Amino acid sequence: MKYKLETIPVWDAFRADSECPFCLLEDEAEKRYIDFFLGNSVMVPEMRVEVNATGFCRSHYPMLFSSRRNRHSLGLVTHTHLQQADKKKEKVLMRLLGFPGKRGMKKELGRAAQQLHGDVESCMICSRIEETVARYLYTALILWKKDEENFRGTWAAGRGFCRFHLASLLAMAGELLPAAMVPLWLQATTDLEKENGKRLEDELLWYTRKFDFQNETKPWGSSKDALQRAIGKLTGKILKEE
Ligand SMILES: [Zn+2]
Ligand SMILES: [Zn+2]
Repeated sequence: MKYKLETIPVWDAFRADSECPFCLLEDEAEKRYIDFFLGNSVMVPEMRVEVNATGFCRSHYPMLFSSRRNRHSLGLVTHTHLQQADKKKEKVLMRLLGFPGKRGMKKELGRAAQQLHGDVESCMICSRIEETVARYLYTALILWKKDEENFRGTWAAGRGFCRFHLASLLAMAGELLPAAMVPLWLQATTDLEKENGKRLEDELLWYTRKFDFQNETKPWGSSKDALQRAIGKLTGKILKEE
């Protein structure tokens, strides 16, 4: 697997103060794709064909709607996608209705459920985000491998990664780093994760203790947003206060 290097955004994200640089990059990519699919480029015929077939998932369809922008074009692409989705759905249901006998029916229902769940989850925004983040993961590991401009130092000075992107990093490292280099990278990453895991646990503990009236007047320290950062660390999603 070979990707285009994206050094500038990766450096920016690693220099920014966050619980996971890839969460920052993913969040920015998501915003860009939401804007893109609410823009006029979605109306070009090739794009319409893709939207009709794939559509958006349970997270991104609501996001497109709640942005309150360009409802006319969202209405148009949703109408044609709905028609196509309905055809697929009817096909699944008709196949079940036409299934002969009782033997194997349970398996057939399971297969139909799987197909419909797959259709609901298929998403043009998710797949584009996935490709984009893969390029960032690739770039970060190449920078670590080459240690350009002391990237390893920047890596070690960060706050580590969320669980989701740590998992993605492990998978990418297996493909990308030479086997002899993996233990060194793993050691640096494990040290970082241990240190920052402890730091965030302590920050969250103080967050919970601040609810005690005896602590009411004591300073928050760095714990004021510890809960949203901890949830972000667990889920790989940046939480914003409404
Ligand atoms: Zn992350
Ligand atoms: Zn999605």
